[in-house]
Amino acid sequence: MAEEKKPTRKKIMATKEMGRIMADYYYELDSAVKNKDKKVAWCSSVGPAEVLRSMGFYVYFPENHSAMLGSKRLATDLIPYANAIGYSPEICSYLTADIGAYLKKFTPLSQAFERIESVPKPDVLVFNTNQCRDVQDWFGWFAHEFKAPLIGVHTHRGVKDVSKTHVKSIAAQMQEMIEPLEKISGNTFDKNELKKTLSLSRECSDLWKKVLDTAAAIPSPLTFFDGTIQMGPAVVLRGTQHAVDYYKLLLTELIERVKNHEGAVDDERFRLYWEGMPIWGRLRDHSELFAVQKTCVVASTYCNSWIFSAFDATDPFISMARAYTELFIVRSDEAKEKYLEKMIDFFKIDGMIYHDAKTCPNNSNSRYGMPQRLEEETGVPSLIINGDLNDLRCLSDEQTKTNIEAFIEQLEEKK
Ligand code: SF4
Repeated sequence: MAEEKKPTRKKIMATKEMGRIMADYYYELDSAVKNKDKKVAWCSSVGPAEVLRSMGFYVYFPENHSAMLGSKRLATDLIPYANAIGYSPEICSYLTADIGAYLKKFTPLSQAFERIESVPKPDVLVFNTNQCRDVQDWFGWFAHEFKAPLIGVHTHRGVKDVSKTHVKSIAAQMQEMIEPLEKISGNTFDKNELKKTLSLSRECSDLWKKVLDTAAAIPSPLTFFDGTIQMGPAVVLRGTQHAVDYYKLLLTELIERVKNHEGAVDDERFRLYWEGMPIWGRLRDHSELFAVQKTCVVASTYCNSWIFSAFDATDPFISMARAYTELFIVRSDEAKEKYLEKMIDFFKIDGMIYHDAKTCPNNSNSRYGMPQRLEEETGVPSLIINGDLNDLRCLSDEQTKTNIEAFIEQLEEKK
């Protein structure tokens, strides 16, 4: 039998610099705890990081840590430790893997960075339920464990049109956080600092959008799988100059690729959109699986989730409230479908992949008829993959491969 040809993986040169700034970020967090010179706030990934950063906190994102557990294929073995203390295998596998890792006294940070022995101990934990309720339970468990205060923003969900009432109520909750955060940090809130941080966050967001938008070119200079790696600074370093500088560097490289018609996938034939979470433990396998089929997964809702175009430093609280409520995950199916139609058009999509992640219903949009409705509206076919972000017991590699290959054959016939 002929051996399947291995695709060449196109390296993004800027990634080396990203490795450096991400390492600096984790070392700074670690030394803040060891030297006790700065307070540490844990924050949910689309939580009000700008408020925390402007008040002098070092900000740590447990979701990034849990995605590391997933991408290193460690999560599946750690989840049962959280199950044993009552956290169901059916709930968020970021939560269960992260709590499991803590119970096992394990962190991938020690493997990646010398001298880091544990996750940074929090002085406060801040969540926003705009993405789900699981972050509240997750952070609540650690707040209890570390005897640290827990502060939350409780967001509306399933929102069709974001109204002034929604925005005002979220802005008010963010403002109410200031007083307790002042007490914890020992710093007085300075609106100008928040404006500065928010400007940097907006700049980061605009650059990140430009990076992702380069994938509209044919052939696309980057894949969704590249995006899941490159989004690190947009998640953990937004609001800093480091993230802005990094995305300038990355954007220059990608624009050069577009000019040279250099595709991320050799001889790109089909362009797909990924709806839902990545399967962290299979990023490389999936990127190769599609590349062999000369198919580029060019864009995704997931990577787009760190675009906050509403940030406006002249009106920080209102604009943050708007940006964190306008997110895809917060919205109704009607609003989501409108958004996806735009994406299909902009990225010239031939087919949609929906990842139905077993433990994250919040990021799984294939359960209430959306693929069928969207297919009818746009004529773009879709495929649903069953899997999970972190728990590899929830997926069948063989089934996924067969389904993807059959789907691409179907696209071929349609052409
Ligand atoms: S959105 Fe999904 S993956 Fe993210 S924290 Fe919530 S349940 Fe977990």
